[in-house]
Amino acid sequence: MIRISNLYKRFGELEVLKGIDLTIEKGKTAVIIGPSGSGKTTLLRCLNLLEVPNAGTIQLGTETIQFSEKQKLKTSTVAGFRKQTGMVFQSYNLFPHLTAVQNVMEGQVVVKGLSKDEARKKALLQLEKVGLLDRADMYPHQLSGGQQQRVGIARAMAMDPDVLLFDEPTSALDPELVGEVLKVMKDLSNEGMTMVIVTHEMHFARDAADLVIFMDNGAVVETGSPQEVFDQTKNARTLQFLNKVQ
Ligand code: ADP
Repeated sequence: MIRISNLYKRFGELEVLKGIDLTIEKGKTAVIIGPSGSGKTTLLRCLNLLEVPNAGTIQLGTETIQFSEKQKLKTSTVAGFRKQTGMVFQSYNLFPHLTAVQNVMEGQVVVKGLSKDEARKKALLQLEKVGLLDRADMYPHQLSGGQQQRVGIARAMAMDPDVLLFDEPTSALDPELVGEVLKVMKDLSNEGMTMVIVTHEMHFARDAADLVIFMDNGAVVETGSPQEVFDQTKNARTLQFLNKVQ
């Protein structure tokens, strides 16, 4: 589903991704962990081209892009990538002037060209899946953070993505609201959705991940099953990180 080869990303002088190689299979849940500033979010954002890598290759489904300094990406290539990915942001990014159901409809109508009736039907289905059918007509400010994030997930799912990307989806939430969002994510994982998740929730990683990816200083240090990374690692950097966070 996703194959990343020798990927580099710089911000000015700062090299943030230093030759990433990674394969994530269809239907799997991959969880990226690692210290703050190690490049986790940047890697995730490269997958839907919110950041454009300086070098390397990303294959996403049927689309492959070879990045280079000079090349300018074609709009159709960018659209091809974006169509396949849904993104869930740390800060939800809902439109404040639209209700929950309107937020979930928006992309379907504007990007996919669905009729309002069709989009509403799909939006309500997705809201039901995240347990918010009864809140469909409420505005974001009338919803808790956990509910807003569940709307964010419903919105991403309504676009029928092949891959769902999560950028620290529970970091902005009060602790008592984290569980309801992780539960929705776990359900999606169980249903076989392909997911790439940047998170600090180690229990979730242990519980839901098929693949744990440990990044440090712009590189993938180690990948493996939760058991391999959390219980059996011999890597000094992984151990040092796990000792701090567990
Ligand atoms: P992580 O998600 O692991 O905390 P990030 O990918 O957010 O790491 O950031 C990696 C490094 O890149 C950090 O040093 C951060 O300050 C820097 N960085 C991220 N985004 C930008 C940007 N748009 N411009 C400049 N520097 C950035």
